[in-house]
Amino acid sequence: TILSRVNWSSDSEDSDSSGADCLYRVVLLGDHGVGKSSLANIFAGIQEKDANEHIGDGLLFFVVLEDTHERTLTVDGEETTLIVMDTWETEKQEEDEKWVQDYCMQVGNAYVIVYSITDRSSFESASELRIQLRRIRQAENIPIILVGNKSDLVRCREVAVEEGRACAVVFDCKFIETSASLHHNVNELFEGIVRQIRLRRDSKET
Ligand code: GDP
Ligand code: MG
Repeated sequence: TILSRVNWSSDSEDSDSSGADCLYRVVLLGDHGVGKSSLANIFAGIQEKDANEHIGDGLLFFVVLEDTHERTLTVDGEETTLIVMDTWETEKQEEDEKWVQDYCMQVGNAYVIVYSITDRSSFESASELRIQLRRIRQAENIPIILVGNKSDLVRCREVAVEEGRACAVVFDCKFIETSASLHHNVNELFEGIVRQIRLRRDSKET
């Protein structure tokens, strides 16, 4: 199971960042409705959102695993396994959800902060999430990618490409615009994460 293979500690020096069988946790953050689940489902190869919409009051670990997708990607001739966690929920502010949010901020080996180019407030939330992450994971140089999703909705655009790019420069992270609907740039996004993870791994080794 995923549980037995993953080191659940927040220690970034853990053993799963070395060796051939590399496992990295990628956490999706962002406002409700920006397209996190759509991106995660494309990553997982799921065509439509299945019965996972319903989450009972089971164990929190179960909640966390329910929206977790694991896939091995071959990027630049090398295999890397990503565990994409789509557990971030901004609408419900119950105690349980708060716990999951804190958990998300602690366990990621990489973060994807998603906003919708059609929703300026989601862009502002993305900045807040970046600041929150920096505070919580201060000393660590974790890969972060800012994603402007729904790039297909050109007529509803509220956030210019240049704004997204400028924001990423300020926040010292990568940037990409995607369209989950058109599957545009989604593979590039996840490959980009793998490359960012490797860059940091390789610079640690030398
Ligand atoms: P989440 O709350 O962040 O997980 O967002 P969802 O993945 O559930 O998406 C919210 C809504 O936006 C759904 O109706 C999706 O079909 C739609 N959506 C997601 N990505 C895109 C996109 O790239 N383009 C368009 N046009 N709609 C999208
Ligand atoms: Mg979702």
